[in-house]
Amino acid sequence: MPQPIVLDTINALRIWRNAERRAGKRVGLVPTMGALHQGHISLVNAVREEAESVVTSIFVNPIQFAPHEDFSKYPRAFERDLELLGEVDCDAVFAPSVSEMYPEGFATAINLVGPAAVGLEDKFRPTHFTGVATVVGKLLLQALPEVAVFGEKDFQQLAVIRRMVRDLDMGVEILGAPTLREADGLAMSSRNVYLSAQEREKAVVIHQTLLEAAEAAQAGMPLHAIEKEAEGTLSELGFVVDYVAIRDSVTLAEPVDGAKPGSLRILAAAKLGQTRLIDNIAVG
Ligand code: AMP
Repeated sequence: MPQPIVLDTINALRIWRNAERRAGKRVGLVPTMGALHQGHISLVNAVREEAESVVTSIFVNPIQFAPHEDFSKYPRAFERDLELLGEVDCDAVFAPSVSEMYPEGFATAINLVGPAAVGLEDKFRPTHFTGVATVVGKLLLQALPEVAVFGEKDFQQLAVIRRMVRDLDMGVEILGAPTLREADGLAMSSRNVYLSAQEREKAVVIHQTLLEAAEAAQAGMPLHAIEKEAEGTLSELGFVVDYVAIRDSVTLAEPVDGAKPGSLRILAAAKLGQTRLIDNIAVG
């Protein structure tokens, strides 16, 4: 595969993007924070189905981390990321500096309600989605892609971005891509490198618990009882559970009585030692 061209300024990205458009190519964007794994690569392949030209952005976005979170120690592996992207069909990498994205005096943010205010990630990371939406909004305006792809791994983020793109008439197609998992079922994540060997073994229980919960929901067990039981299972094993929640898969609101199992999603977030893990699956 030809190596992707590396663009580190917004201007260089725009020049590249305009040339692709003049050549009649649809551009697909894959926003990431780097430390790439096969889950990210699957997004590149998914967007490639819809676009003749693909740009992957690599930017660890400071404004989506709270002061006590892991911004400074978030894994960074730029050379390895380039190698991985060189093995797939990725045309360009956009890797701006923090000062390129947030020059002095930067004073704008995207405010959200709806799926960004449902008591899931937003409850535990109150400034997170404003940071995500602001940077994704910037990336979409910078790259002006026809299509952009986001993983279901961050299910609430995907819902928030779909909503934002519709609300702000951003005119870009948003693709959701399924979660890639390790052989034992653990969702791939850049943060999995934080896990000790012992924690890594235990981490798979999150996925197993979600699978059991989905089965129970399909069997018609009351949803609150399922959530409680799943939380109990995880807590007993030493997880510090932020939530296990069964929600409407579009709005992420509490399901209405009699909601069809196929309209539901089960989402969980829990800490194992110092590492916060999130995962979710469909019911049915
Ligand atoms: P991140 O670099 O963690 O911000 O993730 C960048 C994109 O990759 C987001 O759209 C994530 O939802 C997606 N992603 C992360 N992990 C996975 C995975 N295991 N499978 C599929 N997509 C993923």
